[in-house]
Order: sequence, then C-alpha cells, then structure tokens
Amino acid sequence: MTILPDLSDLVVEQVCVTNDVTVTVHAASPTASCPCCGITSKRVHSHYTRTLRDLPASGRPVHLNVRVRRFFCQESTCRRKIFAERFPALTLPRVKFTLRLQEALREMGFESGGEAGARLGKRLSYPGSPDTILRLVKQTQLPTVSSPRVVGIDDWSWKRGLRYGTLICNLENNRPIDLWPDRAVETVSAWFEKRPSVEIVSRDRSSEYAAAISKGAPQALQVADVWHIGKNLVDSVQTLLARCRAEIRRTLQVQAMPEQEEMEPEPEEEKRPARSRGQEQARLARRAQKLDRYEQVIELHDQGLITADIASRIGISGRTVQRWLRNGSFPEARRRRRRPSLIDPYEHYVLQWWQQGNRNGLQLYRELRAQGYRGSSKAMYNYLARLRTPQSPSSSESVSLKPPGRKSVLTSPAPLENFSARRATWLFVRQLDKLDETEQKELALIRQASPSAEAAYRLTQAFMHMIRERTGQQLDTWLSLVEKSMLPEFKSFAKGIQQDKAAVLAGLTLPWSNGPVEGHVNRLKLIKRSMYGRAKLHLLRQRVLRSSPKKRKSTTARIA
Ligand SMILES: [Zn+2]
Repeated sequence: MTILPDLSDLVVEQVCVTNDVTVTVHAASPTASCPCCGITSKRVHSHYTRTLRDLPASGRPVHLNVRVRRFFCQESTCRRKIFAERFPALTLPRVKFTLRLQEALREMGFESGGEAGARLGKRLSYPGSPDTILRLVKQTQLPTVSSPRVVGIDDWSWKRGLRYGTLICNLENNRPIDLWPDRAVETVSAWFEKRPSVEIVSRDRSSEYAAAISKGAPQALQVADVWHIGKNLVDSVQTLLARCRAEIRRTLQVQAMPEQEEMEPEPEEEKRPARSRGQEQARLARRAQKLDRYEQVIELHDQGLITADIASRIGISGRTVQRWLRNGSFPEARRRRRRPSLIDPYEHYVLQWWQQGNRNGLQLYRELRAQGYRGSSKAMYNYLARLRTPQSPSSSESVSLKPPGRKSVLTSPAPLENFSARRATWLFVRQLDKLDETEQKELALIRQASPSAEAAYRLTQAFMHMIRERTGQQLDTWLSLVEKSMLPEFKSFAKGIQQDKAAVLAGLTLPWSNGPVEGHVNRLKLIKRSMYGRAKLHLLRQRVLRSSPKKRKSTTARIA
C-alpha cells in the first residue's frame, strides 16, 4: 500500500496493477452529512462509481474508482431529499482529478506554462491538458501584499515596443507585487493612492512615472535609479568623445581622411596593386572609425538633431550625413574595381614579355601598336607598374608610380587609428586600476590628445565615484564644476539632473535601486516568450507574481 498516494478515510477494496494502477475504494465512515443542512444521515439511497485521476505511483498512472453512496437527507425541512457523499480531503465535487494531482499540475503550470507543463506532465504520467493546467494557474489566489514600504517601479514591453506595461516590486523582499499593461499616469497614481504605506519609490528617469508617483504618493521619497543615471552619463561621454574625435585624431597626427572613403574612385587610368597587409589593416581601421561615426549619426538623428548639427558634431559633411540616413544601413565601402582597359586584350602578351625580363617600355609600346593597341603609352606604363612586386617599389624604370604621401598612412597604423567613441567611453567610465596595460595607455593618449577629453575624464570619474560609493553629498560640487567647464554634453546632462535633483540625490545616496525590478522584468520577458500566443495578461500576471522568494534575497543587502 505504501506505493499508493495517501488514502486515509477510505477503504481499499481492490488494487489492479497493469500498465496503470487502478484502486477501487469506498468511504470508511458509515454515515455522511448533507451538504445542504449538515445533518448526518445513514440511510443509503443508492451507489454509483466515480473515476478520479491521482498522482502516479512509481511512474504508473493511478486511477481511483470511488464507490459513492447517495443518502436520503433525514431533515424533513431540508430542500435536498437525496445527496451524494463528498470527499473534501480527496477532491472537489464534479472534478476528475484529486486535489494533490491538481496541486502538482498547478505547479507545473506556474513553472512552465500550459503547453510545456502538459508536455512535461505527459512524460511523467501526470494527466492534464494545457487548458486544464492554465485554468488551474488562473484560478490560483495569490497572496495579497500588505502595505509595502519600499517599492521599485519599471516598465516592460507588452507589445514589442508599441505598448508598455508596468511592474512594481517590493524592494524589501525583492518580490513582485503587481503588474498591469500600461504606464499611464492615471493608472500608476491610482495604484499608489490605494497604498499609503509606501515611503520610498525607486524609478527610472522618465517624467511619466515621476509625475504619477508625485500625484499618487506625494508622501513618498522618489529615488532615481543609479543605473539609469549612469546610463545618461555614459551617453553624454560618448557624444562628447564623438565630437572630439577629430581633435583627438588630429593631435595624434593620424590622417583621418574622413571623406575619402566615401568618394567615388577618381576617373584615373591608374591601376591599384593588390592590397598589402598594412593597407588591409588601415582599411579595417578606417572601417571601424566609419562604423563608429555612422552609429553616432544614427543615434544623434534619433535624438532629434538636425543634419547640420550632426555633421558639425561628428566632423563630416552634411551631404554624407544625409546619404547615410537615406541608406538605412551601414554603407560598406565599395572595393574599388579596376575598370576595363584598352590594354586588357594584350594582357597575356605583356605578361610574357615582362617575365622574359624585358623592361624597355618604349619598345613594348611599339610592339603593341603594331598589334593594334589603341590606348595611351601612359596607360601601358601604369599597367606595367602593377606587375612590380609590392616589396620592391624602387626598382628601376621610369613608369609612373602611385602619388607619394599616402603610403605613410597605409603602412603602420598609428595609435588610436581605430579610435572608437564607444570603446573610449568604456575606458572613461571604468576604474583606472581595473584597466589592463594597453587600455591604460590608450586612455592616457586620448586624455593627452584633447583638453576636452581630459576635463570630461575627470568629471566622469568623479561622478562614477558618487555612484559606486553612494556619496551623493558631493553632487552640488560636481554640478558647479560642470557649470564652469566648457563641455556642452555635460552641461545638458547636468541640466537633466537639476530637473530631477531630489530623486537623483536620493539615488546617489540611498541603497535602493531598480536592479531587483529589472531582474523581474527579465523574468517576465522569459515567461512571456514561453507563452507564445497565449500571453494573456491575467495568466502572465499570475505567473510573474508567483515568484519564488528564496533566490533573490541578498540583492539589497549587497548594495547596502
Ligand atoms: Zn439536508
């Protein structure tokens, strides 16, 4: 009997084990009470058999055949004349599963959702269709949260960046409290109005949430999330470095050639020799710069800047900005292809002539003319130049070579040749002693190259220190330094802080942050993705809010 689920209060009549286990049972008690009046009766009217699915036993599906008795109600005034006995410890009326099986299916539903839960259940001999499992999840009463004190609020994408929902967590135990499918001021403030216990709210930098919290919870202290503050700082640094790119690179005497890559090949007859490794390196470096510039153009454009502003910030022409924006994707440089030339039909002849050691150009020209060549002698000489090996550019011959001056750039890439504002920003933000030797050198070069970069570096590090150490009391000093600086990007960052100063100060001082909320938003995304088309809000809400509390307990403790 020990392999069977708990069957106390029941008498086992028969156990039949095949691939399945079928257990026939009846109630142990000779009496039953009427569900209507509660009066106990022992007058049996009739019997019938009810089949129930139960938890599997050792991997075998278990069926219970329950012999149910119908009783006469012995209370004459009761409107029920006949009632069927019930088994409240075993199951609910009119349900085909035992309570413990329902509980197991519910857990599968919360953990994996309907479809995946049903698939898993089938493998483990737990019956239950996706619909059954989803119904169990939906019916579950979640514990109501009593008066939260410290909460975090964040948004989540409900319809792929078109509609956003709101998620609220209790930051004292890092558990989600509520979620709904919008982030409108009215909805958010109404939620807070019903919860006057809230003392502290951590939020992002959006003015929507700020306004809603001020309206619904005027008593609460708002805390701007440090991660978001840091993100804004990083954006400013990156914009500044992109603006200073020309300055930085000029000082390092690297020829930027920003427009060259963009130009059509000159209509010249000159043919280019195959690329050397140095050239290839330089090409890749230029590509990296251009990609960086391109990304900056897109970002600044998204921020609403006009073409002329973008062009002057990044140091390229307005025409290029417009062309890039029109393109819609990163414009890879065309590999310059040799255009067909009049000498092509004689290529084989010239090659043979060259390999035989002949070097008299004039003689070759005469021979070609005799064979019908109608091109210029210059074109012929240019073609000969291509036959020279790249390692011996100085070999004798009066054929015209590539114009001088470009070679110095192409051979050895100078430091910061592949300067990228994005990567440099990362160097600026991190702690100096966390950078490796190469990174430290690169950082030092950038700082030396541009006074703006140097000033920005000091301000960035000071601000990052406030974030790391929560030393918000230094904020005013920092803001006045920015005021004195000549850095427009930092001034606009500071302006943003001024508009939300109390919350930023709280964010830079208090241990609370939106980290745990974002953890739950990520979990929500996973759950949402696993639900495919069935991501109905109610179900999503049930699954997100029923989170296991054990896992994330130390987050606030760590920050504090
Ligand atoms: Zn009754």
